[in-house]
Formats: sequence, structure tokens, C-alpha cells
Amino acid sequence: SAIIKFENVSKIYRMGENVIKAVDNVTLNVEKGEYLVIMGPSGSGKSTLLHLMGCLDKPDSGEIYIGDFQVSKLSDRHLARIRNKMIGFVFQQFNLLPKLTALENVELPMIYAGILKKERRKKALELLELVGLKDRVHHKPTQLSGGQMQKVAIARALANDPLVILADEPTGNLDSKSGSEILKIFEQLNENGYTIVVVTHDPEVAECGDRIIHMRDGKIVSQEVRIGVGNV
Ligand code: ADP
Ligand code: ADP
Repeated sequence: SAIIKFENVSKIYRMGENVIKAVDNVTLNVEKGEYLVIMGPSGSGKSTLLHLMGCLDKPDSGEIYIGDFQVSKLSDRHLARIRNKMIGFVFQQFNLLPKLTALENVELPMIYAGILKKERRKKALELLELVGLKDRVHHKPTQLSGGQMQKVAIARALANDPLVILADEPTGNLDSKSGSEILKIFEQLNENGYTIVVVTHDPEVAECGDRIIHMRDGKIVSQEVRIGVGNV
């Protein structure tokens, strides 16, 4: 079954006289349990597509469904809530809050979701242990390596048990050893049933996917299915 559905979705940017179709009439399903990789040259619309999936951005036309929700019918407030509860975002630049410890960064989405302190602390510790950072929970981002920061970001993305993990060039700022560790974590999460969507231009990252979509000029131009898609 589909977790995310795009029906004829377009996102247009206007720069003076120029009209850029960043995402051009895309129809696409993300299936429950699949590991989807989105590839394509710089400027082909990968990030815009991922931002639309994560409700960080709204389309100019077409319909997007996240779970049972039709995104265009939601208020901004409701959309913010869906984003916090249903989407786990992992960025190239980690996007951790520098003044907070690893533990506090992971707790943050749970604070927004109204989870009580004792429960969210317990969950944050479990998640940091899951990503192998049990002995770094009170460190701040500046005291961590890039790979460790990305692990904190993954733990944060998992905090509210999201429907899907969306990752934009998650290894783009990491050395190859740290990058491999991050990919291994994604693979384990996928084996445990998580749906994962990764944007990359690194073929090594794409290796992990069940399905690879290639974009060009805002359009999906081809797709490769590597193994059975999803688990439902
Ligand atoms: P990719 O992730 O594949 O590099 P993007 O989704 O970032 O591609 O960009 C797709 C196209 O949309 C590019 O032409 C880019 O310049 C343009 N674009 C992206 N974001 C904006 C923006 N905020 N304002 C104007 N143009 C944008
Ligand atoms: P509130 O804080 O007002 O109780 P929630 O944040 O729990 O609301 O959810 C807002 C709306 O979205 C509610 O109508 C709820 O039923 C619905 N909702 C929240 N999460 C899900 C989900 N995972 N699947 C389906 N509906 C959901």
C-alpha cells in the first residue's frame, strides 16, 4: 500500500521572466516498507520533490497524499503537526540545534508532540543507543564528529515513530567510513520495516535502494526496480 502518493504534482519557481518547473507533473507512489532512491543531476528537482513529500513545501498543482491525508486540504497548523508526527527528515547539513545536547535534540520533536518528559527522555536514550551513541548523549553537536551528528539526526528523525524517513544527501558531508555507517543504519531500519526515501547523486548510496528513480528537468525519466518492492 502507498504511504505517499503524488498525482500530477508540479512545483514552479518564478525568477523574474524565468519560470522554472522544479517538479514537473510527477505521479509517484512511495510504498510501505520500500527503500526508494531518487537520483539525477544537480538542479533536476530531487530536493524539491523530497521537500514536497515531507510537507516542507506545497505544490502549485496536483495532489499529494501522506497516509490518509490529502495535503491540500490541511491547514498550515495541521500540516505542521503531520510533519512532526509522520515524517522523519534527515538533512545533508544535519540541522541540529547547536546549543542543545544530543539527547535534547532528539527530545525536541517529542516536546512538540506533547510527550511527557520522563517518556521522551527514555525514548531519546533508546534511540541514541540504537544508532550507537549511548556514550555521547550529553555532548553538544560541536563536540561530535560529522558521522555522530548524522546519527543524532537519525535518532531525532525516529523520535515520533514516523511513517517514512526522508533523507537529502545524508552522506554528502561525511567521509566514506562514516557514510557507510549511516547507510548501514538506514539498511537496518528498512529491514525493520521503515519506509525510506533517499536523495543522492552518489551511486554507492543508490546501491542500497529497492527502487531507483532518475530525474531530469523536474521529471521522472526512468526507474529501476532492484528487488521486490516493499513488504505489503
Ligand atoms: P536538485 O535537488 O536535483 O539539485 P532542486 O530541487 O534543488 O534540484 O532544484 C530544482 C530547480 O529548481 C533548479 O533549477 C533550482 O535552481 C530551482 N529552485 C530550487 N529551489 C528554488 C527556490 N527556492 N527559488 C528558485 N528556484 C529554485
Ligand atoms: P490533537 O492534538 O488535536 O488530538 P493530533 O495531533 O493527534 O490531534 O491529530 C490531528 C488530527 O490528525 C486528528 O484528526 C487525528 O485523528 C489525525 N491523525 C493524527 N495522526 C494520525 C495518523 N497517524 N493517522 C491518521 N490520522 C492521524
